[in-house]
Amino acid sequence: MDAAAKVPIEETCIVCEELKSEGIYLYASFVCRSCEEEIIKTETSDPKYKYYLQQLRKVNKSEK
Ligand SMILES: [Zn+2]
Repeated sequence: MDAAAKVPIEETCIVCEELKSEGIYLYASFVCRSCEEEIIKTETSDPKYKYYLQQLRKVNKSEK
């Protein structure tokens, strides 16, 4: 597969798994703007935070 011509206009957010054009890279994975904000305002004790970390880890482990 030739992925050299890939233009980073849209990336798949690893948290909501939707194509987004705005976001940041966390642990070499793309996280969209809204999810980034969610992560930031979520307490580390919140179960949701665990879910976000899980999503981030999932991508690191099984990269295609
Ligand atoms: Zn997202």
